[in-house]
Amino acid sequence: MRSRMNSATPVSEGRDEFTGMNGNKARRQFPAVTVNQPVPPPFYTAVAMIKDGNTVVSEVRKRIFVPQVVCLTYDASAVEALKSNVTYTLSGVTHTLFNGFTDLDWNAQWGSLPARIQDYYGKVGANVRVTNSLAGLSMPYSRVHFTEGIVGGGALGAATSTDFLNQDPEDYSGVYVGNIRKMIGDAFGDRPTSIDIPVTIDQVGFCMALIATHEPGHLFGLVHVGNFLGGVDLAGGHNKPPYNTRRIMNPGTVADTPADFFGQRGTWDWEPLNAKYLKFVLPKE
Ligand SMILES: [Zn+2]
Repeated sequence: MRSRMNSATPVSEGRDEFTGMNGNKARRQFPAVTVNQPVPPPFYTAVAMIKDGNTVVSEVRKRIFVPQVVCLTYDASAVEALKSNVTYTLSGVTHTLFNGFTDLDWNAQWGSLPARIQDYYGKVGANVRVTNSLAGLSMPYSRVHFTEGIVGGGALGAATSTDFLNQDPEDYSGVYVGNIRKMIGDAFGDRPTSIDIPVTIDQVGFCMALIATHEPGHLFGLVHVGNFLGGVDLAGGHNKPPYNTRRIMNPGTVADTPADFFGQRGTWDWEPLNAKYLKFVLPKE
């Protein structure tokens, strides 16, 4: 897995090489590029040459960086799941833990998601563009589909691959909003002080953005085996214990509290090595 390189393509040291844990190095793997058909991501090289016969008199090369596109989609079950209140009766007192979304609430939160997600990636310099419309979009892109999810299951989301070095820019993941909603009641029932109630519409939006940032993280190759990123080799791979709180590629439910998932205890960011990896795999310059 490490130090693979395409010998046909000149590789300049530095920005085409990533150093992970214990000094292990991964080389950028260049996609097969057909003339005039750039294959993103992350870039193609434009070459301008002046020749005199077979002699190159002058040559200019410029890398054109192509963003990795992430497209958000949803089905009706996601909206329905968020429209119902969450209440919990404790010692004869009924507490309202969450007032369900109206259509306006859904539209506002759905509309804010691309900027929220892109902000997480933008902060580390990763070249990611997030949209919530398939209109006019052509492959390749990664997809995050919002759905009610597996009823009774606990997972907040899932990714179909941990694609180290993002060799395939077309991947699929899901966010399970039914379980985001369910987490509110579970948390309160388990330990009422563990979460501030009622959880607000915007806090649920915060959680949706967080999970919709986490899942594409897997699709881009986070968190691969410990040799590079310090991850554990769980299904999907996550940050390794002991966990720093509020790190985006944490496994969730282990060290994070439900309040953290709703942004009630502070903001989230990437483990430093994860951040460095994202900038390497999805460069802007
Ligand atoms: Zn995960």
